[in-house]
Amino acid sequence: MTAPFTTRFAPSPTGLLHRGHAFSALTAHDAAGAANGAFLLRIEDIDATRCRPEFEAAIIEDLAWLGLTWEQPVRRQSEHLAEYQTALDGLATRGLLYRCFRTRKEIAGTIASAPHGTMDTWRGAPLPADEEAQRLAAGEAFAWRLWLDAALAEVGALTFVEEGSGPNGETGVIDVRPELGGDVVLARRDVGVAYHLAVTLDDALQGVTHVIRGQDLFEAAHVQRLLQALLGLPAPVYRHHRLLTGPDGKRYAKRDHAQTLAELRAGGVTPEQLRAEMGL
Ligand code: GLU
Repeated sequence: MTAPFTTRFAPSPTGLLHRGHAFSALTAHDAAGAANGAFLLRIEDIDATRCRPEFEAAIIEDLAWLGLTWEQPVRRQSEHLAEYQTALDGLATRGLLYRCFRTRKEIAGTIASAPHGTMDTWRGAPLPADEEAQRLAAGEAFAWRLWLDAALAEVGALTFVEEGSGPNGETGVIDVRPELGGDVVLARRDVGVAYHLAVTLDDALQGVTHVIRGQDLFEAAHVQRLLQALLGLPAPVYRHHRLLTGPDGKRYAKRDHAQTLAELRAGGVTPEQLRAEMGL
């Protein structure tokens, strides 16, 4: 049975966890505890080129060290590719997707600055049938994109509930702005499914009632709420939390070589000290 309050921590095993991840995991875990609810762990490992089993093992070790416990089984996205495919096929059959043969380089936009490189805000349309057939016959790779024009013709105005806040203080009942994500990629040319589709399906399949995560993913909620509506899935409540910043005022990030939890642990830092430092 699904607990009335169910939340999750959903890391990608593409590296070692740092303070920012710890803050997110602890925030979600404590919220579940306060609500007498369930805390789930989901491993977002759809990108086999970047994810590694040793990082998953390190995540488990770090979270256990932090004192967290979570429900079993852990959901591993790589074990559910067929489920994502079924959802994708359904959307394609309804004429809500199109094949996009453009490479990322060819897409004008702000890919580098967007979370997970997903918000490229491209808007397009299906290619003429003969051109598409030609490209397919030539073996050209393509991504499946949501065709926003078609999707918006199916769903009316949408809202989601934000119990935390977005980066600009957005809170309460938020009007969905689907254009923020553009014709979002739902299946990557190399991977077969993309972040937004997998996350949206998993949150519903795992009975997640509260999505608790960093403000860097606030815009993703706009896209994910639209996908929930298209797929007939329940809408969770969102609680986006502030992003932890270091002494230099910048948020902790892998690319800035933020100290990992493993390093902090080896240096004698305790989970209690981390919590205190984070105001938890
Ligand atoms: N896997 C995502 C990340 O590593 C989190 C997805 C989510 O919380 O919705 O940041």
